[in-house]
Amino acid sequence: MISRTDDAVTTRVEQVDPASLPEGDVTVAVDHSSLNYKDALAITRGAPVVRRFPMVPGIDLAGRVIESEDPLYRAGDRVLATGWGLGETHWGGLSRMARLSGRWLLPQPAGLSSRQVMGIGTAGFTAMLCIMSLEEGGLTPASGPVIITGSGGGVGGMAIMLLAQLGYQVTAVTGRPQLHAYLTRLGASEIVPREALAPTGRPLEKIRWAGGIDVVGGDTLATMCASIQYGGTVAACGLAESMALPLTVAPFILRNVRLQGVDSVMCPRPRRMAAWARLARDIDHTLLESMLHDAPLADAITIAPRILAGHVRGRTVISMA
Ligand code: NDP
Repeated sequence: MISRTDDAVTTRVEQVDPASLPEGDVTVAVDHSSLNYKDALAITRGAPVVRRFPMVPGIDLAGRVIESEDPLYRAGDRVLATGWGLGETHWGGLSRMARLSGRWLLPQPAGLSSRQVMGIGTAGFTAMLCIMSLEEGGLTPASGPVIITGSGGGVGGMAIMLLAQLGYQVTAVTGRPQLHAYLTRLGASEIVPREALAPTGRPLEKIRWAGGIDVVGGDTLATMCASIQYGGTVAACGLAESMALPLTVAPFILRNVRLQGVDSVMCPRPRRMAAWARLARDIDHTLLESMLHDAPLADAITIAPRILAGHVRGRTVISMA
């Protein structure tokens, strides 16, 4: 529970009367949630992620329906939810129980456990939305190599794994040389340091990639856009480096580059269904397992600052058991 008193924000594990859960037509027994960058921001700093206090963090959850007034769901159904303001404006998934709108729920895909669903979680879902954007921009494995930033983290690692599975040649960007073996195992065929995308001040760079997925923003995203081949697409979804984008229009007007924003929070339901169906089909269970760490609920508070410091690899799954 994240509370704000005067200027201070405190986060701790609390026992809460289920009657005080927020309004919603479905009550879910949460089996697993996960720790995303946004959760780490919420747990350690509160604002700007948390927009209402007190707040139960957790932007995603997987569990079983306890009771439902939504005709789509019955007690016992296995469901998942990501985004829609969970952990930001509505009490989220880092809790044994959640009450929310049935419109925010999806059935868990067959063939995946609740733990695997949250292992994929918002990060894997967002990675798939990015891949769908690149495909809509015309990218195919024959187009050329694709660059991914923040490779040691959740979205980046998922994107590498999924693209490699689809036959793409993947360049992984990381600030952690110690992750080379791990990133190669996920499917990266080239690994470059963060400095490879340091700003040069030139509006256009030498062409190096057919497309890109960026989770960090800032100079890195700017250099990526300036290094994409004619007609290529960059999907931008994050700000781990910076909210800024110091870029000229040159890549867009001279190389026909497309910069596609990707948001997972308000993504419409049909696109969510399509993304999760593909995740259930394309995910390699062994590689997914290599990205996961398990932790109990109470540990979420100590892991959060380590995520913001860039010290956590892959995905952290929180178990409510
Ligand atoms: P993680 O913390 O798991 O991964 C972020 C990675 O970014 C780190 O592992 C690190 O990779 C790299 N990184 C961290 N700090 C910096 C820095 N200062 N400069 C350059 N690289 C850095 O986060 P997630 O994968 O969960 O999320 C990544 C980003 O995507 C976040 O900004 C998040 O808010 C955003 N996001 C957006 C969504 C949307 O709907 N638009 C949904 C999900 C996430 P390495 O050490 O390998 O370099």
